[in-house]
Amino acid sequence: MSAEAHRYAVFGHPIAHSLSPEIHGSFAAQLGIHLSYETIDAAPGDFAAAVRRFFADGGLGANVTLPHKEAAFALASEHSEAAARVGAANTLTPLVGGKLHAHNTDGSGFVRDITERHSLDLRGHDALLLGAGGAAKAVAWALLDAGVQTLTIVNRTPERADQLADAIGDPARCHTRYWDGLDGECFDLVVNATSIGVTGGSFDLPMSILQDHSTCYDLCYGAAAASFKGWATAAGARYFRDGLGMLVEQAADAFERWHGTRPDTDPVYNALRQRF
Ligand code: NDP
Repeated sequence: MSAEAHRYAVFGHPIAHSLSPEIHGSFAAQLGIHLSYETIDAAPGDFAAAVRRFFADGGLGANVTLPHKEAAFALASEHSEAAARVGAANTLTPLVGGKLHAHNTDGSGFVRDITERHSLDLRGHDALLLGAGGAAKAVAWALLDAGVQTLTIVNRTPERADQLADAIGDPARCHTRYWDGLDGECFDLVVNATSIGVTGGSFDLPMSILQDHSTCYDLCYGAAAASFKGWATAAGARYFRDGLGMLVEQAADAFERWHGTRPDTDPVYNALRQRF
C-alpha cells in the first residue's frame, strides 16, 4: 500500500486550531506507522459530501469535532454502543460497500484520563456534572459505567438535563437539579462539561458543594479552563484537572480502533502539557 493510502483526517468548523494531527502524528511516529493526518474544514452544509469524498478517495479513518458530531452519527450505518447512547460520533471508520461505522471516544477518554492518569477511583463517588451537551452526554454515561454512586446533572437549559437523565433511565443513581438548586449538597467530583470557558458566562455555584478531597475537572484546557479553575480555586478545591489528558486519551482510543495498537499516551501528554 502506498504512503498516500494511509490517510486520516479530522473534520470540524473551524478546525485550524485542532491538535489532532499533532497527536496522531506523534502516536504514529512512536509506533513506526506511516500515515498522513490532515484537517478538513467543512461548513455544516458541506460536511456529508466532504466525508463521502474523503472515504471514496481512500481515507482510512476520520475524527469529527464541533459542530459535526451528530451529523457524523447520522451518516453512519453502524454505531458502537458508546455512539448510540450519545447520538453523536467523533470517530468514523469505513466499512465494506462504502458504509461507515460510528464510534464515540469522549467518554472512554475522559474516564481513562481521570482514573489512570490522575489515579482517581470513581467507584462510590457522588458526582456533579455541569452541562448536558454532546460531551456531557458521553461523560454522564462513562461516569455511571465507572461506578459513581450518584450523578447529579445541572444545565442552563434544565429540560436538556432532564432529557439526559431520562435517557439514562437510572433514577436511583442519576437525577437533575436546577443550577441554583445545589445549596446543601456535597460532591466528591464536579465536572464542567459546559462551553462557558469558550463562550463566556459564570460558575455561580455554592462553594459549599466541595469537600476537602473533592476533585474539579474541566473538559476544557488552556485559556478556556481559566474560568472554571478560578471558581474551583476560590471554592478551595485542592485537586483541579483540565481536559488535556482527555483530549489525548480520546485520540488514543480512536488510534487503537484504526491501527489495532494502543500508543503510550504519556510522552504526547507531557509534550502538550509544556504548552498548556
Ligand atoms: P455543546 O455545544 O454540545 O454543549 C454546550 C453546553 O454548555 C450545554 O450544556 C450548554 O447549555 C452549556 N452552556 C453554554 N454556554 C453556557 C453559559 N453561558 N452558561 C451555562 N451553560 C452554558 O458542546 P460540547 O458538549 O461538545 O462541548 C462542551 C465543552 O467540552 C467544550 O468547551 C469543548 O471544547 C469541551 N470538550 C473537550 C473535549 C476534550 O477532549 N478535552 C472533548 C469534547 C468536548 P444549554 O444546553 O443551556 O445550551
